Amino acid sequence: MHSLPSIDPLEDGTSEVRLLDFMGNSLSVVNDARQSFEKASADWSEKDAKLLNYLAREHHTSPFRGVVFKWFVKAPLFVARQWWKHTVACTYVDDQLGWNEKSYRYCSAEDAEFYMPSVFLQQSESNRQASAGPLPGATQEQAKLAYASGLWAAKAAYEDLLTMGVSKEQARAVLPPAMYTSFVWTCSLQALLHFVSLRKGAGAQGEIVAYADALLALGRPVAPEAFEAFAANNYQF
Ligand SMILES: Cc1cc2nc3c(=O)[nH]c(=O)nc-3n(C[C@H](O)[C@H](O)[C@H](O)COP(=O)(O)OP(=O)(O)OC[C@H]3O[C@@H](n4cnc5c(N)ncnc54)[C@H](O)[C@@H]3O)c2cc1C
Repeated sequence: MHSLPSIDPLEDGTSEVRLLDFMGNSLSVVNDARQSFEKASADWSEKDAKLLNYLAREHHTSPFRGVVFKWFVKAPLFVARQWWKHTVACTYVDDQLGWNEKSYRYCSAEDAEFYMPSVFLQQSESNRQASAGPLPGATQEQAKLAYASGLWAAKAAYEDLLTMGVSKEQARAVLPPAMYTSFVWTCSLQALLHFVSLRKGAGAQGEIVAYADALLALGRPVAPEAFEAFAANNYQF
C-alpha cells in the first residue's frame, strides 16, 4: 500500500482525508476507451489529451471507472451522512460496496471527538438549506456555549448509560451528529468527479465543500490530465 499525504479539511486537528491507495491514471482512461478498437497508447501524447477532453466533455463516463481510489476519511457524522447519499459511488456501480465505517456497536464512544465550528453562521433568509454570514460578536460566544453544553450533556448521558450497563449499540443513539466517525471509501474516478461536482457546487454545506476540495487536491496527482479536463468542463461530471 502507498503511503500518501493527508489533509485536515476542517482545520481542527481532527478531521482527515487520506489517499490510502489507487489504481490507474489518465492513460488508463483513454486506453479503456480505445478498447473499442483494440488499440492502446504506451505513452501519453497530445492525441491522448484530445481524446480525454472529448470523453469528459461528452460524458463518455465508463472509461473513468477503471481508475480507482481508496480513501480514509474522518468526518463528523452529519458530513458522513451527506456523503453516504452518493450511492453509486463505488467501483462496481453497486449500492454502497465501497464503504466501510467505524461502528459504535463495537467501539466505545467514551473517547469520542466532536466537531466544533470555528465560526457560527446565521440562517440564510433566501435559501432554507443554507447559511449566511457570521453571527454578530456577542451571539457568537453564546452559540459556542450552547453548542458545547449540548455536546457535553450528550456525552455525559452516554457515559451514564454505559455505567448502568446499557449496551453500546443502544447508548450510542444519544450521541450527536457533530461526533466524528471514520470510514474507508473506495470509488472510481467517475464517482469521485461526480461527488466533487455536486459537493463543491452551489448550495453544498461549507464543511462538505472542504472535504471535496481535499479530495480534489489529493486525487489530482494520480490523473492530472483527467482533473484538468474536469476543470475545463466547469467541474461538471
Ligand atoms: C446541495 C445538495 C443538497 C441536498 N439536499 C438533500 C436533502 O435535503 N435530502 C436528501 O435526501 N438528499 C439531499 N441531497 C442528496 C442528493 O439528493 C443526492 O442523493 C446526492 O447528491 C447524490 O447524488 P447522485 O444521486 O447524483 O449520486 P450517486 O448516487 O453517486 O449517483 C450517480 C448517478 O447515477 C444515477 N443514478 C443513481 N441512482 C439512480 C437510480 N436509482 N435510478 C436512475 N439513475 C440513478 C444518477 O444519474 C446519478 O446522478 C443533496 C445534495 C446536494 C448536493
